[in-house]
Amino acid sequence: MRILVSNDDGIFSPGIKALGLAMRALGEVYVVAPDVEQSAVGHGITVRRPLRFKHTAAAGFGEIPAYRVDGTPADCVVLGVHLLGRPDLLVSGINIGVNLGLDLTHSGTVAAALEGASLGIPSIAFSLDTSGEELNFALAAEWAVRIARLVAERGLPKGVLLNVNFPAGVPRGIKVTRLSTHHWEDTVVERLDPEGRPYYWIAGTPVGEEEEGTDLWAVRQGYISLTPVSLDFTAEGFMPQVEAWLQEL
Ligand code: MN
Repeated sequence: MRILVSNDDGIFSPGIKALGLAMRALGEVYVVAPDVEQSAVGHGITVRRPLRFKHTAAAGFGEIPAYRVDGTPADCVVLGVHLLGRPDLLVSGINIGVNLGLDLTHSGTVAAALEGASLGIPSIAFSLDTSGEELNFALAAEWAVRIARLVAERGLPKGVLLNVNFPAGVPRGIKVTRLSTHHWEDTVVERLDPEGRPYYWIAGTPVGEEEEGTDLWAVRQGYISLTPVSLDFTAEGFMPQVEAWLQEL
Protein backbone atom coordinates (compact mmCIF):
# COMPACT_ATOMS: atom_id res chain seq x y z
CA MET A 1 0.00 0.00 0.00
CA ARG A 2 1.22 3.52 -0.87
CA ILE A 3 0.51 6.33 1.59
CA LEU A 4 0.83 10.05 0.84
CA VAL A 5 1.46 12.18 3.93
CA SER A 6 0.90 15.94 4.00
CA ASN A 7 0.02 18.70 6.46
CA ASP A 8 -0.36 22.47 6.82
CA ASP A 9 2.21 23.15 9.55
CA GLY A 10 5.04 22.57 7.10
CA ILE A 11 7.45 19.74 6.37
CA PHE A 12 9.60 20.53 9.43
CA SER A 13 6.72 20.17 11.91
CA PRO A 14 7.10 17.43 14.55
CA GLY A 15 3.50 16.40 13.82
CA ILE A 16 4.12 15.31 10.23
CA LYS A 17 7.37 13.62 11.20
CA ALA A 18 5.59 11.47 13.81
CA LEU A 19 2.77 10.66 11.37
CA GLY A 20 5.06 9.88 8.43
CA LEU A 21 7.37 7.62 10.40
CA ALA A 22 4.45 5.78 12.06
CA MET A 23 2.70 5.13 8.74
CA ARG A 24 5.62 2.94 7.64
CA ALA A 25 3.82 0.20 9.62
CA LEU A 26 1.15 0.17 6.89
CA GLY A 27 3.15 0.45 3.70
CA GLU A 28 5.27 2.59 1.43
CA VAL A 29 5.20 6.21 2.62
CA TYR A 30 5.98 9.43 0.75
CA VAL A 31 5.76 12.94 2.14
CA VAL A 32 4.78 16.08 0.26
CA ALA A 33 4.24 19.12 2.47
CA PRO A 34 4.46 22.92 2.43
CA ASP A 35 7.93 24.40 2.91
CA VAL A 36 6.59 26.85 5.51
CA GLU A 37 3.53 26.90 7.75
CA GLN A 38 0.24 27.18 5.86
CA SER A 39 -2.22 26.97 8.74
CA ALA A 40 -5.68 28.44 8.05
CA VAL A 41 -5.12 28.80 4.29
CA GLY A 42 -8.05 26.46 3.65
CA HIS A 43 -8.42 24.67 0.32
CA GLY A 44 -6.54 27.23 -1.79
CA ILE A 45 -4.84 26.10 -4.99
CA THR A 46 -2.01 28.17 -6.50
CA VAL A 47 -2.79 28.89 -10.14
CA ARG A 48 -1.19 32.29 -10.88
CA ARG A 49 2.45 31.49 -10.18
CA PRO A 50 4.76 28.49 -10.63
CA LEU A 51 5.43 25.97 -7.85
CA ARG A 52 8.67 24.22 -6.88
CA PHE A 53 8.84 20.61 -5.74
CA LYS A 54 12.09 19.93 -3.88
CA HIS A 55 13.45 16.78 -2.29
CA THR A 56 14.15 17.54 1.37
CA ALA A 57 16.52 15.19 3.15
CA ALA A 58 16.83 17.51 6.17
CA ALA A 59 13.25 16.97 7.38
CA GLY A 60 14.22 13.85 9.34
CA PHE A 61 12.25 11.22 7.44
CA GLY A 62 15.25 8.97 6.83
CA GLU A 63 14.66 6.70 3.84
CA ILE A 64 11.14 8.05 3.23
CA PRO A 65 10.99 10.26 0.12
CA ALA A 66 10.08 13.75 1.35
CA TYR A 67 9.35 16.80 -0.80
CA ARG A 68 8.56 20.38 0.08
CA VAL A 69 6.38 22.68 -2.01
CA ASP A 70 6.19 26.49 -1.87
CA GLY A 71 2.41 26.33 -1.91
CA THR A 72 -0.69 25.28 -0.02
CA PRO A 73 -1.57 21.85 1.41
CA ALA A 74 -3.94 21.26 -1.52
CA ASP A 75 -1.10 22.14 -3.93
CA CYS A 76 1.02 19.49 -2.20
CA VAL A 77 -1.65 16.84 -2.77
CA VAL A 78 -2.14 17.80 -6.42
CA LEU A 79 1.61 17.78 -7.14
CA GLY A 80 2.29 14.71 -5.00
CA VAL A 81 -0.32 12.65 -6.85
CA HIS A 82 0.78 13.98 -10.25
CA LEU A 83 4.54 13.57 -9.79
CA LEU A 84 4.82 10.55 -7.48
CA GLY A 85 1.69 8.63 -8.38
CA ARG A 86 -1.69 8.03 -6.90
CA PRO A 87 -1.61 6.74 -3.30
CA ASP A 88 -3.98 4.15 -1.84
CA LEU A 89 -4.39 6.34 1.24
CA LEU A 90 -3.80 9.99 2.13
CA VAL A 91 -3.16 11.19 5.67
CA SER A 92 -2.76 14.82 6.73
CA GLY A 93 -1.31 16.15 10.00
CA ILE A 94 -0.77 15.65 12.79
CA ASN A 95 -1.82 19.27 13.13
CA ILE A 96 -0.62 21.30 16.10
CA GLY A 97 -4.05 22.29 17.44
CA VAL A 98 -7.60 21.01 17.02
CA ASN A 99 -9.68 21.28 13.85
CA LEU A 100 -13.25 21.13 15.12
CA GLY A 101 -16.63 22.34 13.88
CA LEU A 102 -16.35 25.42 11.69
CA ASP A 103 -12.54 25.27 11.81
CA LEU A 104 -12.94 22.90 8.87
CA THR A 105 -13.72 25.85 6.60
CA HIS A 106 -10.25 27.36 7.25
CA SER A 107 -8.11 24.34 8.01
CA GLY A 108 -5.25 23.53 5.64
CA THR A 109 -4.87 20.16 7.37
CA VAL A 110 -8.43 19.21 6.50
CA ALA A 111 -8.10 20.79 3.03
CA ALA A 112 -5.35 18.32 2.12
CA ALA A 113 -7.76 15.50 3.00
CA LEU A 114 -10.59 17.24 1.12
CA GLU A 115 -8.37 17.39 -1.94
CA GLY A 116 -7.52 13.72 -1.54
CA ALA A 117 -11.19 12.79 -1.18
CA SER A 118 -12.12 14.85 -4.24
CA LEU A 119 -9.53 12.83 -6.19
CA GLY A 120 -11.21 9.64 -4.97
CA ILE A 121 -8.42 8.72 -2.51
CA PRO A 122 -9.43 7.50 0.99
CA SER A 123 -8.26 10.45 3.11
CA ILE A 124 -7.94 11.25 6.81
CA ALA A 125 -7.05 14.50 8.62
CA PHE A 126 -5.43 14.28 12.07
CA SER A 127 -5.15 17.09 14.64
CA LEU A 128 -3.96 17.21 18.25
CA ASP A 129 -5.32 19.35 21.08
CA THR A 130 -2.41 21.48 22.27
CA SER A 131 -3.93 22.54 25.57
CA GLY A 132 -2.05 19.74 27.34
CA GLU A 133 1.27 20.14 29.11
CA GLU A 134 3.25 18.35 26.43
CA LEU A 135 2.41 17.34 22.87
CA ASN A 136 2.44 13.56 22.59
CA PHE A 137 2.66 13.15 18.83
CA ALA A 138 4.03 9.62 19.20
CA LEU A 139 0.92 8.42 21.05
CA ALA A 140 -1.39 10.22 18.59
CA ALA A 141 0.53 8.66 15.68
CA GLU A 142 -0.02 5.16 17.14
CA TRP A 143 -3.79 5.78 17.11
CA ALA A 144 -3.50 7.31 13.64
CA VAL A 145 -2.01 4.05 12.35
CA ARG A 146 -4.88 2.02 13.87
CA ILE A 147 -7.49 4.30 12.31
CA ALA A 148 -5.69 4.42 8.95
CA ARG A 149 -5.44 0.62 8.88
CA LEU A 150 -9.22 0.35 9.31
CA VAL A 151 -9.84 2.89 6.56
CA ALA A 152 -7.41 1.10 4.24
CA GLU A 153 -9.19 -2.22 4.87
CA ARG A 154 -12.78 -0.99 4.77
CA GLY A 155 -12.55 2.01 2.42
CA LEU A 156 -14.61 5.17 2.59
CA PRO A 157 -17.73 6.13 0.60
CA LYS A 158 -17.16 8.38 -2.42
CA GLY A 159 -16.84 12.03 -1.35
CA VAL A 160 -16.38 11.24 2.36
CA LEU A 161 -13.26 11.77 4.45
CA LEU A 162 -12.51 11.33 8.13
CA ASN A 163 -11.62 14.22 10.42
CA VAL A 164 -9.85 13.00 13.54
CA ASN A 165 -8.97 15.07 16.62
CA PHE A 166 -6.84 13.77 19.48
CA PRO A 167 -7.43 15.09 23.01
CA ALA A 168 -4.67 16.44 25.21
CA GLY A 169 -3.11 13.67 27.30
CA VAL A 170 -3.84 9.95 27.09
CA PRO A 171 -7.14 9.28 25.24
CA ARG A 172 -9.96 7.61 27.22
CA GLY A 173 -11.22 6.00 24.02
CA ILE A 174 -12.71 6.99 20.70
CA LYS A 175 -16.09 8.49 19.74
CA VAL A 176 -17.76 8.93 16.38
CA THR A 177 -18.99 12.52 16.40
CA ARG A 178 -20.75 15.22 14.39
CA LEU A 179 -19.29 18.68 13.85
CA SER A 180 -19.78 21.21 16.65
CA THR A 181 -20.23 24.97 16.47
CA HIS A 182 -16.57 25.40 17.40
CA HIS A 183 -15.06 28.47 15.75
CA TRP A 184 -12.84 31.47 16.40
CA GLU A 185 -14.38 34.76 17.40
CA ASP A 186 -12.24 37.20 15.46
CA THR A 187 -10.48 40.12 17.02
CA VAL A 188 -8.49 42.54 14.89
CA VAL A 189 -5.42 44.00 16.52
CA GLU A 190 -4.20 47.31 15.10
CA ARG A 191 -0.57 48.30 15.59
CA LEU A 192 1.90 50.63 13.94
CA ASP A 193 4.84 49.59 11.78
CA PRO A 194 8.30 51.19 12.32
CA GLU A 195 7.34 54.01 9.96
CA GLY A 196 4.16 54.80 11.86
CA ARG A 197 1.70 53.22 9.43
CA PRO A 198 -1.06 51.01 10.80
CA TYR A 199 -1.12 47.26 10.21
CA TYR A 200 -3.72 44.72 11.27
CA TRP A 201 -3.47 41.26 12.75
CA ILE A 202 -6.46 38.92 12.79
CA ALA A 203 -6.52 36.95 16.02
CA GLY A 204 -9.29 35.29 17.98
CA THR A 205 -10.64 33.25 20.80
CA PRO A 206 -12.03 29.75 20.31
CA VAL A 207 -15.71 29.42 21.23
CA GLY A 208 -18.39 26.75 20.74
CA GLU A 209 -21.12 24.69 22.37
CA GLU A 210 -19.91 21.54 24.09
CA GLU A 211 -23.05 19.64 23.02
CA GLU A 212 -22.96 15.88 23.61
CA GLY A 213 -22.07 13.88 20.51
CA THR A 214 -20.04 16.65 18.90
CA ASP A 215 -16.34 16.72 18.12
CA LEU A 216 -15.71 19.50 20.66
CA TRP A 217 -17.49 17.54 23.39
CA ALA A 218 -15.52 14.36 22.69
CA VAL A 219 -12.13 16.08 22.75
CA ARG A 220 -12.97 18.04 25.91
CA GLN A 221 -14.06 14.76 27.55
CA GLY A 222 -10.69 13.22 26.71
CA TYR A 223 -11.84 11.07 23.78
CA ILE A 224 -10.48 10.86 20.26
CA SER A 225 -13.09 12.41 17.99
CA LEU A 226 -13.73 10.79 14.63
CA THR A 227 -16.08 12.69 12.29
CA PRO A 228 -17.07 11.48 8.82
CA VAL A 229 -17.14 14.63 6.66
CA SER A 230 -18.88 14.96 3.31
CA LEU A 231 -17.61 16.92 0.32
CA ASP A 232 -21.26 17.57 -0.55
CA PHE A 233 -22.09 20.92 1.10
CA THR A 234 -25.75 20.85 0.01
CA ALA A 235 -28.18 21.85 2.77
CA GLU A 236 -30.81 19.34 1.62
CA GLY A 237 -33.23 20.05 4.44
CA PHE A 238 -33.54 23.64 3.26
CA MET A 239 -34.18 22.86 -0.40
CA PRO A 240 -38.02 22.64 -0.12
CA GLN A 241 -38.10 26.12 1.39
CA VAL A 242 -35.98 27.56 -1.41
CA GLU A 243 -38.35 25.82 -3.86
CA ALA A 244 -41.25 27.55 -2.10
CA TRP A 245 -39.51 30.92 -2.44
CA LEU A 246 -39.30 30.36 -6.18
CA GLN A 247 -43.11 30.47 -6.36
CA GLU A 248 -42.84 34.17 -5.49
CA LEU A 249 -40.22 35.04 -8.10
MN1 MN B 1 -1.73 23.92 11.21
